[in-house]
Amino acid sequence: MRFDVFTLLPEVIEPYLQSSILKRARQAGLLEVNVHNIRDWTTDKHHVCDDTPYGGGGGMVMKPDPIFKAVEGVLGAPPSCPVFLLTPQGRTFNQQVAQELTQYDHLALLCGRYEGIDERVREYLVTDEISIGDFVLTGGELPALVLIDAVARLVPGVLGDPLGAENDSFTSGLLEYPHYTRPPEFRGWQVPEVLLSGDHARIARWRREQSLLRTWQRRPDLLEKVDLTEADRLYLRNLERAQRAGKKDQDG
Ligand code: SAM
Repeated sequence: MRFDVFTLLPEVIEPYLQSSILKRARQAGLLEVNVHNIRDWTTDKHHVCDDTPYGGGGGMVMKPDPIFKAVEGVLGAPPSCPVFLLTPQGRTFNQQVAQELTQYDHLALLCGRYEGIDERVREYLVTDEISIGDFVLTGGELPALVLIDAVARLVPGVLGDPLGAENDSFTSGLLEYPHYTRPPEFRGWQVPEVLLSGDHARIARWRREQSLLRTWQRRPDLLEKVDLTEADRLYLRNLERAQRAGKKDQDG
């Protein structure tokens, strides 16, 4: 999968891509990320990419000309792939959106700075807009990295273990079960006995129940959207019953 990232701060993007799984994915040719400095497409002496907003008010706005020139210079006019703008006003990124984006083999990501970009870029160049959450960062570089990371690990072959992403939180619709590694006892705290039992059916059931428990405790909203088996429903009913009994004991 190929990403072309357009930014005023390419030095922020590169180091993250040069480590661990994403580095290996790039070396293996599974992931290609080209980072472009929008400033390189300015023609004035000081390489100015921002200007004051029409109508007044604080902050600066990214000028349309260098952005159009950069994107069209790399990708042609019209661009040869969808152009995604990172913006707090976009649709919220999540695991489903990450999965959806794996359908593309080439995406351009546009990172804003200052108060954002001139609206004409959004209207005439941008295909889709993505927010990584309801908060405002100083720039779109971290959101672009978040998107690349989440999408790249879904590209077949990027994770060493082909089943690596299968049980991840949100992929199955539930939060993932807890993990333990050696030693079996640490400061007197034991790894749950079932995980040491070698009984794969028991381990699978325990993991499923832990996933259900975590989701019920932390993100009950997810339970409404997930396919549950009869055994899952029974387990959840028992959790609710235990909760009600606990409340009664406290009240009584
Ligand atoms: N004035 C803008 C607004 O209120 O919508 C916010 C601009 S923000 C300070 C500068 C840039 O950071 C944005 O253009 C966008 O590229 C990026 N950014 C900030 N928060 C983001 C978020 N939650 N998701 C995606 N991009 C974000």
